[in-house]
Amino acid sequence: MTHTSIATSAAFPLTIHPHWRAAAEAKGFGILQRIKDRYHLLLSCHTCRRAHSSKIFVLMNSQPQCPHCIQDRWQADAEAAGLKWAGRDPEDRHYAHYIAPCGHNLRRQFEMVKRAAEGVCDVRCELCQQHKEQEEASAQGWELIGPDPNRNQNYRLYRHASCGHVQRIARANMQTGRFQCSNCGEGWSSAPSFLYVMQLKLAKGAKLIKLGYSRDPISRLYHQLLKTKETEAQVLRTVPISSGHTAVQIEKGLHARLKAEHPDSVAPPDLYAHELRVKSEVYFADATQVIFAMLDAIRAEEDT
Ligand SMILES: [Zn+2]
Ligand SMILES: [Zn+2]
Ligand SMILES: [Zn+2]
Repeated sequence: MTHTSIATSAAFPLTIHPHWRAAAEAKGFGILQRIKDRYHLLLSCHTCRRAHSSKIFVLMNSQPQCPHCIQDRWQADAEAAGLKWAGRDPEDRHYAHYIAPCGHNLRRQFEMVKRAAEGVCDVRCELCQQHKEQEEASAQGWELIGPDPNRNQNYRLYRHASCGHVQRIARANMQTGRFQCSNCGEGWSSAPSFLYVMQLKLAKGAKLIKLGYSRDPISRLYHQLLKTKETEAQVLRTVPISSGHTAVQIEKGLHARLKAEHPDSVAPPDLYAHELRVKSEVYFADATQVIFAMLDAIRAEEDT
């Protein structure tokens, strides 16, 4: 008898009922065979053509989900978000591992990566971010301790390396150096600074002049200013100023004068936006002599 012969070759019945096939087709699957026990079917996905095991109950009462298609979506989200898929997190079904472009392994929620794939938010590597912020701080002689105790997203907690004082400082100010240690008083507004005139030759040949102030060594100035190695840059002149505070005021006055008296010399930002990390305060080379003359007048004043 058929029934006994099936029972000897498998521990569960192999019959596939027509209404199961109909339900499977309606839900995007074909039935390959019965497997495991009397409750399971091996389904073939019409979308990806791969097989997975499903409970008959699930097939008949809800929509079976193809695990391969789900994984494909996770991988596609990862790629769209600029990440490499590195597998699910075995500890938490909402999480997976991803490899960031920097090479670090990030543990993220599927939802979060999906939003990043849609461009709603960013996936940032916190290790690299922390490293970057630590470098910014040490360039100013400070140490990054951690997030702001007052929970302001724009602030961090830092320690002054030379005096040990711990202080909340806005990260933007740490980047530019425009802050002061409230313990020892060292900082941009009291430290000597200088105005500089820099000559720039863009990759396409345009010659420009940048007028600015800085308390940084020249090498860092180049690093902060230039986006690519294509740009040729050279500091033509510097004028030492007694404090950063004064330097900023003088610099602002010079830009205002140049704008008013030599509007044709102001270079349009489109010209240099892809090569320089500044949005203004750049002039055509024909303004060089005018700027030199202004600086000569300032130097004479500072010397007296
Ligand atoms: Zn599938
Ligand atoms: Zn990283
Ligand atoms: Zn200090």
